[in-house]
Amino acid sequence: MAETVSGAPKINGTAYPFVDHVYDVVVVGAGGAGLRATFGMAEKGLKTACISKVYPTRSHTVAAQGGISASLGNMGPDDWRWHMYDTVKGSDWLGDQDAIEYMCREAVPAIIELEHYGVPFSRTEAGKIYQRPFGGMTTEYGKGIAQRTCAAADRTGHAILHTLYQQALKHRAEFFVEYFALDLIMDEEGACVGVVAWNLDDGTIHRFHAKIVVLATGGYGRVFFSATSAHTCTGDGNAMALRAGLPLQDMEFIQFHPTGIYGAGCLITEGVRGEGGYLTNSAGERFMERYAPSAKDLASRDVVSRAMTMEIREGRGVGAHKDHIHLHIEHLDPKIIHERLPGIAETARIFAGVDVTREPIPVLPTCHYNMGGVPTNYRTEVVTKKDGNPDAVVPGLMAIGEAACVSVHGANRLGSNSLLDLVVFGRSAAIRATEIIGKGEKHRNLPKDAGDKAIERLDRLRHAKGDIPTAKLRLDMQKIMQNDCAVYRTGKTLKEGVDKIRDVYGQRHRVKVDDRSLIWNSDLVETLELDNLMYQAVVSIESALNREESRGAQAREDFPNRDDEKWMKHTISWIDEAGKVTLDYRPVHMTTLSNDVQVFPPKARVY
Ligand SMILES: Cc1cc2nc3c(=O)[nH]c(=O)nc-3n(C[C@H](O)[C@H](O)[C@H](O)COP(=O)(O)OP(=O)(O)OC[C@H]3O[C@@H](n4cnc5c(N)ncnc54)[C@H](O)[C@@H]3O)c2cc1C
Repeated sequence: MAETVSGAPKINGTAYPFVDHVYDVVVVGAGGAGLRATFGMAEKGLKTACISKVYPTRSHTVAAQGGISASLGNMGPDDWRWHMYDTVKGSDWLGDQDAIEYMCREAVPAIIELEHYGVPFSRTEAGKIYQRPFGGMTTEYGKGIAQRTCAAADRTGHAILHTLYQQALKHRAEFFVEYFALDLIMDEEGACVGVVAWNLDDGTIHRFHAKIVVLATGGYGRVFFSATSAHTCTGDGNAMALRAGLPLQDMEFIQFHPTGIYGAGCLITEGVRGEGGYLTNSAGERFMERYAPSAKDLASRDVVSRAMTMEIREGRGVGAHKDHIHLHIEHLDPKIIHERLPGIAETARIFAGVDVTREPIPVLPTCHYNMGGVPTNYRTEVVTKKDGNPDAVVPGLMAIGEAACVSVHGANRLGSNSLLDLVVFGRSAAIRATEIIGKGEKHRNLPKDAGDKAIERLDRLRHAKGDIPTAKLRLDMQKIMQNDCAVYRTGKTLKEGVDKIRDVYGQRHRVKVDDRSLIWNSDLVETLELDNLMYQAVVSIESALNREESRGAQAREDFPNRDDEKWMKHTISWIDEAGKVTLDYRPVHMTTLSNDVQVFPPKARVY
């Protein structure tokens, strides 16, 4: 056992004694994905713990606005097969079609289930769940516009998260709230056997021994300077997987939402354009008509983000610095704004000082969603490439939600498909875990040194005496990612970005932490989070440089076409402590579960 930096005798001596727990399943994360999995497992009688670094209803899911997709057909004809077609096409042919079929088929029962659990959806005159159109959602395989996105006003995530939390309490799942998960515990055979967490409230360290650990830790948007996601979205689970020697998948695919409020980054939902909102440049022109003549302002997010960036780059941005775009809803009936978009009216007033019934909202493409994450199959089991098998299951480990890469979103996620992903795959995790544990799965033994590595890292950062404050290092990383790994990418800037990010990664040992306590030490929490973000910054930008094509959210100016022959494959990436990245590939699953629909890419890029 290693010595502690603080000089305390042994890791497991007096310095950091473990409080031990034994569970069937431990879910790390209490957002939409984590809560759906947690109560699904508790409902089935599994002894289930859910760990969250924030109070469950403060998870980022609470901020989701626009809605959740399902082909209910309440407001016009719809079919899950059309939803599947749109999702495969939206993914720019990188999504796994078995997983996409599973999600789109299960969407309808999943929404009805949510309704029965008590989600207060908005209603049509006839009393059915209200559905709005969202970008990329069509009828008849691309012919018409589908109204597929179920909404609870513009606070859908809030409604869903609170309902799921109530269900979890009802089923008596056990919560460890404001516990910060540090690292996975893996055994010699590469199976996951538990997780180590730090109780932020009293400083104790907890070791959870489990048959299955589920990562539901959300995205890592905070790797960028401008992000719509909460400050807590630091991809801790992704980093834990990397430290456990597992790869992440498709980390180059990062979605920029076209409409973050200029300056603040807060999201203005796509639902605004679904309700009739539109974008203009400095000439007052509705420029989307030029870039996407049929879908216009409701073209998919990458198309709109790129069009906006292009307008700004060509000098047609608005404002004193010509560096943003206007979003208009002042032509809409104020009654509609009040009923369907009350949240964004408030956000625009607070963060942009704008009265949306009179003036346009200043907006800019902002990091919104991470398509990449921990690779899994559609049963949510984590997979890795091992002995030539690209789908080798990692025993004892599952991943769901934004932390996972199932991959239903492929190279680009359609709006309202993420909330759906959370509930469908949260439920799928509960079903699969019940199956595995029902077959008599026992606890694997904890290795002798279980948890020691997590403690070594905690102790090292807690006593970090370098010369660079966490906030400075974080800002350096975020600026590099924003400048060199955002909407537009070329080999030259990506290469520069890789060099700069390596430099910052190399400065990790110079980080300085002032607070040495273990109780509500936000300095240390932020440093652990920054450390987690760093690994993900490096693998994201290296994967982006490596992929020499444009697909979905990855738009390379030097490789403007999609190249299916060479690149219709998932990137998987590993990183070691020294920062050395290893890249490899997994094939895209083109086979579906039922063969009801199978979608093949056309020769040319479609957008
Ligand atoms: C502003 C905004 C609006 C959006 N609107 C929509 C929308 O309308 N429709 C749609 O489909 N999608 C939308 N999305 C995307 C969608 O909301 C997210 O992808 C989704 O909510 C992520 O859910 P999650 O359960 O994976 O993670 P989160 O909700 O981010 O939850 C992560 C959980 O993990 C826990 N956690 C993380 N690290 C640790 C750790 N180290 N230890 C312990 N716990 C940890 C956190 O405490 C939290 O409980 C939106 C996203 C944003 C940012």
